[in-house]
Order: sequence, then structure tokens, then C-alpha cells
Amino acid sequence: MADFSPPPARPLPERVDVAIVGGGIVGVTAALALAGWGHSVALFEKGRIGCEQSSRNWGWIRAQGRDLREMPLMLEAQAMWPRLAAESGEDFGLTRGGATYLALTEAEMAGHVAWFEAARPFQMATRLLSAREADALAGQDAPRFRGGIHTETDMHAEPGPAIAALARLAARRGVAIYEATAVRVLDMAAGRSCGVVTEHGRVGAEAVMLAGGAWCRPFLENAGLSLPQLAVRSQALRTSPGPRLAPGVIGATPASIRPRRDGGYTVGRTGVAGFDIIPAAFTHFRAFVKLMRDRPGLVRLSLGRAFFGPLGRHRWGADDRSPFEDARILDPSPDPAVLRGIMTGLASAYPPLAGLRMVQGWGGMIDVTPDEIPVIGPVARLPGLILATGLSGHGFGLGPGAGRLAAEIATGRAPLVDPAPFAPARFGL
Ligand SMILES: Cc1cc2nc3c(=O)[nH]c(=O)nc-3n(C[C@H](O)[C@H](O)[C@H](O)COP(=O)(O)OP(=O)(O)OC[C@H]3O[C@@H](n4cnc5c(N)ncnc54)[C@H](O)[C@@H]3O)c2cc1C
Repeated sequence: MADFSPPPARPLPERVDVAIVGGGIVGVTAALALAGWGHSVALFEKGRIGCEQSSRNWGWIRAQGRDLREMPLMLEAQAMWPRLAAESGEDFGLTRGGATYLALTEAEMAGHVAWFEAARPFQMATRLLSAREADALAGQDAPRFRGGIHTETDMHAEPGPAIAALARLAARRGVAIYEATAVRVLDMAAGRSCGVVTEHGRVGAEAVMLAGGAWCRPFLENAGLSLPQLAVRSQALRTSPGPRLAPGVIGATPASIRPRRDGGYTVGRTGVAGFDIIPAAFTHFRAFVKLMRDRPGLVRLSLGRAFFGPLGRHRWGADDRSPFEDARILDPSPDPAVLRGIMTGLASAYPPLAGLRMVQGWGGMIDVTPDEIPVIGPVARLPGLILATGLSGHGFGLGPGAGRLAAEIATGRAPLVDPAPFAPARFGL
């Protein structure tokens, strides 16, 4: 996944309506929306399109269990996915197979029931499962689960093929995509952003959208702004082909599974993420105390070389080589012990899958905000800059909605949902 040989440099445009920093799902879908409205767009990606979170995720596109503040945006995103797949003309495995969470304990089941009740106003196609139904779905002969929750409208897709197909669609719509082109800093004039300075030169822009995933915090820090956003290390694996338990995704504490087009499963586990302590951790510690308290065991802290790594550096100029060029692709190594633990969890939670082999494991850095919802909107302290980041571990599914909302804000259009919960102003930006 980390192989990187830069494509030949292409001449940059002098000026565009919107310059987008970051070729993940948010940047690509924002570009698609903008091009569809007739705007000129240049999208800059330091590595390859989708090379970080957007190709490494589990591929779940679920509304079930979502924070209610982002439900309207999630439901819009779910409506957009099939349209985008049809417009791309490519099959990237988009399947409305439903999502199920199985509860191992009464406490887990109580959490699902609480969400079920709270989400009633959204009239979701969600129902609670009995213990017997949960065990039958997982293929358990003896009683194991306490119940579950199922939403039949939830979806999944193959992340790598999906982001590549959407980028091709954007290119066909006229978006100028520059891979291997890091944006070092914002170009500034009279206190407002008037474009970007890339490693290959300057490009003027009416608006700049920062959709750089885990890199937004250091990018903004370098511009003198503070965004409480931390990057946690997560991992996933894929297995050899196995029997189908359900048409959709199934989540459980020991292991969560998504059926793949190749007949195997993408498997992961929540609560085994690691956080490498970097200088920003001290700056933003207080902002994350509540999250750590409410979700004990969410991340394991470790202190190592990452302290001095690219996400740790925070001052450079337009003429300096930037951390974005030093680390074209964030490709953290997966922890072999965690991968083994996921395979053990897979076999125990879903006995029919006990014979599957691990074919590949990988790591990915997930960017997280203290309230675990995105940051989308104008940066008041830096006119001309729109922020679209902080998707906090669920941005693949939410991505098209987030991209579109950011595009609407960048061009002064009426937003598809109330953007207030996502305002950067809540973090003083
Ligand atoms: C293991 C794992 C499992 C996950 N599972 C799910 C899931 O099942 N469902 C779900 O909805 N979400 C999931 N997520 C989260 C989801 O992948 C992310 O929330 C989403 O992809 C974020 O998209 P993005 O566009 O904001 O960021 P990214 O995909 O990280 O894209 C940002 C891009 O910006 C580029 N960039 C950064 N700075 C610069 C710069 N200065 N110049 C040029 N380019 C720059 C980066 O190279 C990168 O490609 C998972 C994530 C991981 C890692």
C-alpha cells in the first residue's frame, strides 16, 4: 500500500474558483459537487488519491448508531451513494445489505435500545433482535449474544475502488487533479487566503478547502491556528473466502465483518486503536479528557519515535520542504498481536468463519475530534478558508454528504442540512 512513485508533474493553473487540499472521500466528493455547479476546481493530493483513510477503512456506510447530531447529514450521504455509483458507471461493490450490531452483554444491549429509542424521529428501518435471532445470525449453536439491532437500509462498499471511481468521475467532469502535489501553506494577501502554495508553485483561488484528514491539525498549526484533532492508529485485515452469514455488515465486540466482493471478509475491531503521543497531545489534552473518560479503552497510548515524526512537526515556510512531502502516505504498520486477536475474535463470534485465513493486514490513522463529529465550515480567523475534516472514524459513509456541505458553504449556496453542529467556531476557529 505504501509504494509511491510520483507521476510526472503537470503545469498548474494560475487561478481557480476553489482549490481543494486533500484527495480523500471528502475532497473528491466536494470537487464533484463544485464541478457539477460549473466551478473551476483544482484538487491537490500529496500522495495518491485515496491513499490514506479513504482506501483503508472497513467500507461501512451506516446510519445505525450514529450520533444524532450528524444523522441528517448521514441520511443525505446515504441517498447520494447510489446516485454517485450510477453516475460513475463503475461497480465498486455498493450494496444495501443492512447493518447489524450484536450485543455480548446486557450493557451493550441497553446501549442499542437507547439509540433505537432516541433515533425514532428519523423513522429508520431499524429493529431490535432477540438473543436467539442474534445467535442464529452469527452461527452460534450455544447461547452467546444477548440480542442485537439491525437497520436494513444501511450499506457497504469497497473503499479503494469507490474512491478511485469517484475521482475518475470528477476528472471527467473537469476537476484538475494533481497527485504527488503537496500544498505547503496557504497563500495570503491582506489577511485572507487567496490561494495555495504547492511544492510545484502557487495557484490562486477564490476559496480554499482544507480536506486533508489527519493532516489538518499540523497544517493549521503552521498557519497559527489550533484545531483539537488527534490521529489514532487503527488496523484491519482481509480474509480468505468464506460462507456468507448475511448480505450486510455485522458488528460485535470481538470482531466486526464486512463481506467483500472477492468472497472474503474485511474484519476489524473497535476499541483497539493506538495513539502515538506527539507534541499536539499535550496542547490538546484537555479537549480530549471527556472523550477518554466516556469511552475508556478507546485508545491505547504509546510514546515512541512518532513524537518526532511528521505529524509532530509544526513550523515551516512556503519555500521549505514540508512534512507533507516527507510523508506522502501515512502507512502505519499494523500490530501483529492485534491482528491475531481480531482473528481469534472472528472465530469466537462467528463459528462458521473459524476456518478463514488472514490474507492481508494494514494500518490507518483515523482523525478524531473531541466531540467525534466533523468540522465543516468557514474559518472565521482565516477568511477564504473552508475546513472539512474531523470525520472521526465514520467519514467513508458520511463523506459525500460532508463534501457536498463543504462545497455549498464554499460557494455560498443553501446548505443541504443545518451546518451549525459542525461549525469550526465550536473550537474557537
Ligand atoms: C481502519 C479504518 C477503518 C475505518 N472504517 C470506516 C467505516 O467502516 N466506515 C466509515 O464511514 N469510515 C471508516 N473509517 C473512517 C474513514 O475512512 C475516514 O473518516 C474518511 O476516509 C476520512 O476522509 P477524508 O477525506 O477526511 O480524509 P483522508 O481519506 O485521510 O484524505 C485526506 C487526504 O489529504 C491528503 N493531504 C493531507 N494534507 C495534504 C496537503 N498539505 N497537501 C496535499 N494533500 C494532503 C492526504 O494524503 C489524504 O489522502 C475508517 C478509517 C480507518 C483508518
